[in-house]
Formats: sequence, structure tokens, C-alpha cells
Amino acid sequence: MKMLEISGIETGYGEAMILRGIDLTVEAGEIVALIGANGSGKTTLAKVISGLLPVQRGRILFRGEDIGRLSARHRVRLGIAQVPEGRQIIAGLTVRENLRLGAYTQRQALGDQGVATRLSQVCRQFPALLERLDGMAGNLSGGQQQMLAIARALMLAPRLLVLDEPSLGLSPMLVSEIFHLIVRLRSEGLAILLSEQNAKMSLAIADRAYVIESGRVVLQGRGRDLLDNPEVCERYLGVGKSSQGIREASSGESHAALVRGLASILGTAAKARSADETHR
Ligand code: ATP
Repeated sequence: MKMLEISGIETGYGEAMILRGIDLTVEAGEIVALIGANGSGKTTLAKVISGLLPVQRGRILFRGEDIGRLSARHRVRLGIAQVPEGRQIIAGLTVRENLRLGAYTQRQALGDQGVATRLSQVCRQFPALLERLDGMAGNLSGGQQQMLAIARALMLAPRLLVLDEPSLGLSPMLVSEIFHLIVRLRSEGLAILLSEQNAKMSLAIADRAYVIESGRVVLQGRGRDLLDNPEVCERYLGVGKSSQGIREASSGESHAALVRGLASILGTAAKARSADETHR
């Protein structure tokens, strides 16, 4: 079943139309990457999905249900969790308190014990947070804060995770950790919409991807096919065309080497992919 199905979405801020007819789908157990330059509309689309910005035209279906007019709170209850750009954790609360807030809309159904159980399940994936549960969130490093933002979203036990620029401002090692985590979450059956400027990494792990320009989808396809697409390489991967074509990048790095490099950075992610593929 399609987890998310968006068709003909148009919206913006006041007079300014930003999204101009977006069609997109995400299925369970699938990573879908959204790539595009600054200001192309990725965050705006994330806000539309989570209900923070109303749509003016078009439809958003979540598990077949039209959610276009539902409040953000209602969408959270249905299983849509967004990890916003810039993390937006609450610095003056402890790590544990931030996590408990993640399950706020389910607190009555879960009860204190249920929330505590959920918290320890989620934290299994985040040893650094487990060690700092009673520390102030504001004292975490940038990478740990990003982990906390993702862990807080997982406290909802969501069906769809919308990640907006999770690697922004992180060191290469932490970026790699975040991408490993995203691949692990896919293997648990989550549907993931990954909005990223780090196009190389996101295309390397994505099942499918959409390229957005000025609020329109200009290209879509399998993640690896887009990694091989000369236009995408040139515009989004910082790899220029040369007379030998795209496979010989102007930097001297071959495209195959680029992909191999990504696979080695991703390590288990690449393994998870090939394991996935053997099951398809
Ligand atoms: P970035 O990676 O820089 O966040 P993006 O692809 O996520 O880029 P958006 O944040 O969706 O892009 O912005 C798309 C356009 O909408 C930009 O031109 C931006 O200036 C404009 N915009 C974003 N938020 C608002 C707002 N609250 N009011 C008015 N215009 C906005």
C-alpha cells in the first residue's frame, strides 16, 4: 500500500506560490529522497505533509485517507512524524523530557509505563542519548541533538518519517552515522521521505528520488539511476561533465569510484541495500 500519495499540490506563503503542482509517492519500507537547491521548496513540502502549512490545491492521501484538511496534531496521531530542519529540540529540557514530549499525543493511550517502555526501545538505537538521558538537551553536540530530534520523532512509533536536512552542519562521520540509522529504520518497515542537500549520500541510499526545482518535480527515478544521470551529477552532485562524459568527472574522479566511495562510507547501508535487493 502507498503510505503517502501526493498529487497536484500547490501552495505557498501569502501571494507567493512556492509549490506548483507536486506529485509524489512513498511506500512502506522505502526511502524516497527529495533533492533540490536552496529555496526549491523541500521544507515547504515537508510542512504541507505534516500539516504545518495548508494546501491550496491538490490532494494528500495517507494510507489511502485524504488528510489535506486534518490538523498537524491529527496527522501525528495517524503516524506522520517530521524531524524539522534545525532540529528544534528544547534546549532547556533534559534529553528524557524531550523524548517524552515526542510521545505526548499518545501519553493517555500508553500511560507512564508505556511511555517509559517506548523510550527504552527507542534509545536502544541511540547509545549516546541513553548515557545522557538526564542531561540538558542544550548541552548535546550538534550530532547528538540531531539524533535526539530523530529519536523524539520515533517516540511516536510513526509509519512515515519526514526528515528535513538531517545532515546539515554535521561532520562527515556523523553524517555517515545518520545515514546508517536511516537505512536501519527502512529495514524496520518505516516509510521515509528524506529531504537533503547532501544529494550524493541521499541518492546512494534512496530507493527512489525526486528532484525539485522552483516548486516542481523536474526529474524522478531510482536513486542509483539519478546518481548516474549526467544532469543530476552536474547540477546537484558537484561533478562536472568532461569530454569523456560524465563517468570521467572533471575532478579526475570516475563516477564508479564516486559510487564505490559512497558505498564504503555507508558500509552496512550498502550491505542492507544488497540484502534488500536479494529479497525483491
Ligand atoms: P532550504 O534548504 O534553503 O530550506 P528548501 O528547498 O527547503 O530550501 P523552502 O524552505 O521550502 O526551500 O523555501 C522555498 C521558498 O519559499 C523560498 O523562496 C523561501 O524564501 C520561501 N519561504 C520559505 N518560508 C517562507 C515563509 N515563511 N514566508 C515566505 N516565504 C517563505
